[in-house]
Amino acid sequence: MFPVEKIRADFPILQRQVNGKPLVYFDNAATSQTPKVVIDAIVDYYSNYNANIHRGVHSLSQEATDKYEQARIILQKHFNARQAYEMIFTSGTTHSINMVASGFSKLLAKGDEVIVSALEHHSNIVPWQMLCEITGAKLKVIPMNQEGALMIDAYENLLSSKTKLVFCNHISNALGTINPIKEIIEKAHSVGAAVLIDGAQSIPHMKVDFQELDVDFYVASAHKVCGPTGMGFLYGKQEWLEKLPPYQGGGEMIETVTFEKTTYAGLPHKFEAGTPNICGGIAFGVAIDYMNSIGLDEIAAYEQELLEYGTKKLEEIDGVTIYGTSNKTSVISFNVGEIHPYDIGSILDKLGVAVRTGHHCTQPIMDFYQIPGTVRASFAFYNTKEEIDIFIEALKKAIMMLS
Ligand SMILES: *Cc1c(COP(=O)(O)O)cnc(C)c1O
Repeated sequence: MFPVEKIRADFPILQRQVNGKPLVYFDNAATSQTPKVVIDAIVDYYSNYNANIHRGVHSLSQEATDKYEQARIILQKHFNARQAYEMIFTSGTTHSINMVASGFSKLLAKGDEVIVSALEHHSNIVPWQMLCEITGAKLKVIPMNQEGALMIDAYENLLSSKTKLVFCNHISNALGTINPIKEIIEKAHSVGAAVLIDGAQSIPHMKVDFQELDVDFYVASAHKVCGPTGMGFLYGKQEWLEKLPPYQGGGEMIETVTFEKTTYAGLPHKFEAGTPNICGGIAFGVAIDYMNSIGLDEIAAYEQELLEYGTKKLEEIDGVTIYGTSNKTSVISFNVGEIHPYDIGSILDKLGVAVRTGHHCTQPIMDFYQIPGTVRASFAFYNTKEEIDIFIEALKKAIMMLS
């Protein structure tokens, strides 16, 4: 049995009420909640060893540096990167993608092509459009089907010797569908293209192995995996990180500076200009340790149970359409008849149930289904079937009030 009651006790926020009702938090795909060990790590940092890292000779600075670099190693081991310095700390997925897109502005030219999937978050579309504007490269799109899966045959037809980069998410945040990234990576490599995978939705739900995937770049955020906001990573293969120019100039990222010429520091510092989110990095490591203490496989199995239970309950309600039905994680994106998702979300909130409504930063997916948005209930390993029952009752009330 998955020890969900014991796990729930680790999350102080799950004890609170919203609008006089116990909180049912089903907006985990937007951000996850924070366990006490992570909160404690943040308090401990500011209470006991807050100091700037890497340059200090004094004890606090060394302690902070050690903890920050230990966190990098926790991430390296967890994701099986070859080297710790291939894990670059960033402020999150968006930041990481922009770093790579900006780097490629020096490596692409007119006539080159880059490929994006139809299922992307805006943060994995817009930076590449900006890159194409600068370089004259052409953006092509892997189409999706009605089930919310990518059409791999069409992808193969897009690939050619002109393809330089492919970017795709591991799991769609709007639908929860899992993309066949191993296949996507292999096919890209067969024409010599590099691949960036947006893992913002995968790392909370599954074990990911960078070397096994042979992925060139993989990016994610801490706040979706029980860590703090404003923290994330860019994993890049060493040879790619060496090829890309630095993203920002400043302290930390240099070896020597004169007014005539500056030489850059080695990895990872080349990409970590300025004082980083030290506490955030340390807390990210603690969050990953926490997830591992429960077990990613155990989490995935339990979340599948929640997904099946929630899907079955929802399908019993008249007028419900679920978007994204192929192989997926614990996300249910749906609409009820012609009712606007926002109206459902507002009533659910009054009843203590937090869901997301709208386009989920994926307008092209909404356009594909010709809808303004969806209601999205996304479950985490600290949610329960009892909470799903509360959500279903609240939804029935909302439907009654709105139809
Ligand atoms: C949340 C999310 C992002 C953006 O992450 P930030 O932490 O806001 O930078 C990008 N892609 C996907 C798939 C996401 O779920």
